[in-house]
Amino acid sequence: MLTPEAIIAVIGSGTMGAGIAQVAAGAGHRVWLYDIQPGAAKRAIDGIATALSARVAKGKLDEASKLATVARLHAAEKLADLADVGLVIEAAAEQIDIKQAIFRDLAAICSPDAVFASNTSSISITALASGIENPERVAGLHFFNPAPVMKLVEIVSGLETSPVVAGQLSELALRWGKQPVSCQSTPGFIVNRVARPYYAEAWRALEEQVAPAAVIDAALREGAGFPMGPLALTDLIGQDVNFAVTCSVFNAFWQERRFLPSLAQQELVLGKRLGKKTGQGVYRWPLDAQPEYQSGQPDDNAAKQVMKTGKTLELDEVLVAVTCGITATALSAELKRPVVLRDKLADTSLEVLAASASVTSLQLAKVIHYFQQQGKRVLVIKDYPGMLVWRTVAMLANEALDALQKGVASEADIDTAMRLGVNYPQGPLAWGAKLGWQNVLTLLENLQHHYGEERYRPTSLLRQRALLENQHEH
Ligand code: NAD
Repeated sequence: MLTPEAIIAVIGSGTMGAGIAQVAAGAGHRVWLYDIQPGAAKRAIDGIATALSARVAKGKLDEASKLATVARLHAAEKLADLADVGLVIEAAAEQIDIKQAIFRDLAAICSPDAVFASNTSSISITALASGIENPERVAGLHFFNPAPVMKLVEIVSGLETSPVVAGQLSELALRWGKQPVSCQSTPGFIVNRVARPYYAEAWRALEEQVAPAAVIDAALREGAGFPMGPLALTDLIGQDVNFAVTCSVFNAFWQERRFLPSLAQQELVLGKRLGKKTGQGVYRWPLDAQPEYQSGQPDDNAAKQVMKTGKTLELDEVLVAVTCGITATALSAELKRPVVLRDKLADTSLEVLAASASVTSLQLAKVIHYFQQQGKRVLVIKDYPGMLVWRTVAMLANEALDALQKGVASEADIDTAMRLGVNYPQGPLAWGAKLGWQNVLTLLENLQHHYGEERYRPTSLLRQRALLENQHEH
């Protein structure tokens, strides 16, 4: 039983192992920290003590709790020290042979009912458990970096994982102040799979020269409420790390086109422009780039000439409408009038616009001015189907539905994972429902038609949801 008295072993005392050990000791467990590098576990404990002292200095922790937590942490010299543990959390190098060898060695040392959890981000839990005695006790316990701060823990079950073990790990995570979500062992689990379009669509927009990086990031941040733009986020994560996760998910899904890695990102990795840690990636760090805002010509009459018709506006002869996945120029050719499209999900202070080729600069200036008079900041991007925000959120919702349909996790857990694992402003499933599944479907169908690419294929659950939504409305 994983009681508060259970002794915990953390294997690997790098970034994640140290963070997890801090959480476990903070929750009252005695913790053994083991690392293959001599002295590394002791250094990690010293690092935790320093981190806790900083919290004490900020008034976030009292000195007595810090001392008690540090006193519960012990460096193990050898695996044989770990005979009494109730739970092993493996956070060693991301290689299957290393992780399997650790579990195999510990199976000969620990009690047969000790739980073996891995913090792996990408290795199959089923594969890790195979060949290990009592494979039903092996599960994934996937923390997010930094482990003491991030609330989410994915509890990952492989084919052999006992539901009792998964349940015990969920309860343990709750006791440690974390939010557990349950998922099946599939590539990327929940977060690293469902988040792929957030990065992929930004790289694609950059590659198609739709707008400068700072504009793409501003659109997602200010236009949709993501805490950080996707390109700045890849700089923060590290281009090498983010690219490796994308490649791993892409290959694990038999090179599914939705997950296709970006050549532009690969180029940064090859050039060792890895982002914040090397001082340059998409941006130069520290970040100082600001999006370029396009301003319009002042024209006080513009607002008066606007007629509102449903969700569209008419500004003189220009039709202003929200994107539905076709370009402004294609819509303009169909309607035989100039068109400006808006990348609008909700009422935000930012307006992202794209104009058809038939819109004159004076007409565009009037549209820009109209929105500026409403206190909006306006960004103009190239005429791009589905634009930036709509396309990204539709692809996130599509991926979330695909994971849901394939039984990776429940609807609630997928949304919780995306809100807490990557701080999305809304879970993609709740978001898709709010935007309207039919709208999401139309956007993706139009994108698929535009590009003729598999990448934008709507998942079959999306079609079902759109159908149900239409039935409810009629
Ligand atoms: P890291 O390189 O910082 O630390 C790994 C540690 O494991 C090193 O100290 C290394 O000496 C030790 N190690 C290697 N082989 C070992 C062995 N056989 N026995 C004992 N110790 C061994 O790596 P990290 O970022 O802490 O990642 C650890 C694990 O957590 C990986 O599986 C990774 O995929 C996963 N993970 C990482 C993150 C992240 O953001 N860094 C997030 C979630 C999960």
